[in-house]
Amino acid sequence: MAKTDPGPLIGAHMSIAGGVFNAVLHAETAGCRCVQLFVKSSNQWRAKPLTDDDIKQFKEERKRTKIGPAVAHSSYLINIATPDKALFEKSREALKVELERCNILGVEYLVFHPGAHVGSGVEAGMKRIADGMNWVLDCVAETDCMLLLETTAGAGSHIGSRFEELREIIDKLEQPERVGVCVDTCHIFSAGYDIRTQAAYKKTMKEFNDILGYPLLKALHFNDSKFDLGTHKDRHEHIGKGFIGKDGFGFFMRDAKLKTVPKLLETPKDPEGKNDKMNLALLRKLAKSK
Ligand code: MN
Ligand code: MN
Ligand code: ZN
Repeated sequence: MAKTDPGPLIGAHMSIAGGVFNAVLHAETAGCRCVQLFVKSSNQWRAKPLTDDDIKQFKEERKRTKIGPAVAHSSYLINIATPDKALFEKSREALKVELERCNILGVEYLVFHPGAHVGSGVEAGMKRIADGMNWVLDCVAETDCMLLLETTAGAGSHIGSRFEELREIIDKLEQPERVGVCVDTCHIFSAGYDIRTQAAYKKTMKEFNDILGYPLLKALHFNDSKFDLGTHKDRHEHIGKGFIGKDGFGFFMRDAKLKTVPKLLETPKDPEGKNDKMNLALLRKLAKSK
């Protein structure tokens, strides 16, 4: 049994330069069990259509490597919380296109940032997020890919730094069963949720469970933070080298309720992929330590 244990469900965000299948190959090289990728360029609105080869290669590599789940991260330009009508419509259209691409590729989850209300108020922003999501889910009716709302650090007018806000958005959805949550460790910590000690971790996760519930937690972004608790700054650091520290990640790694939840690094990269290997090795060690 021990010999066939594939180890913890950890992975990293990987580049799709040269084709989406490359994310799977990079994941394999780094020793990942799961992977995150962009399904189009993350800083452009335009999306070049996926070719039959793109789709075939991606699916073949996933089948061969057994890497999964695959989690897509949406473009950073998307803001469905915006009061700007043109940007709202452009954003929901872009999110729809990304969900369609995930569906074609057989990607299991599409993570997106709830968005910024830009001075129009949290309530109005949450209403638009739910409206945008309802529209997208209505447009892309036939897919198993779930939309995941990512927790945010709460910089500026970004919505989603409190679990209550995500709950309120989900309560406005017509098809909530197609939606989940992605917890980013750097973001929640920076938003004020402490996870540095066993007691703090328990308190934060109890709050998550009371407000959202463990079953909604479909993915974790594993990032340490360059800034301290409650600073609302979103700057990722290597595991154990930031203000969270390695203990915090150990609590997540050893939480039996999170065993099947993919844990994905979004930590700084280097050309040789050494950083990912270093962070993944530390996470494997933390999974076993007490
Ligand atoms: Mn994100
Ligand atoms: Mn993240
Ligand atoms: Zn971040």
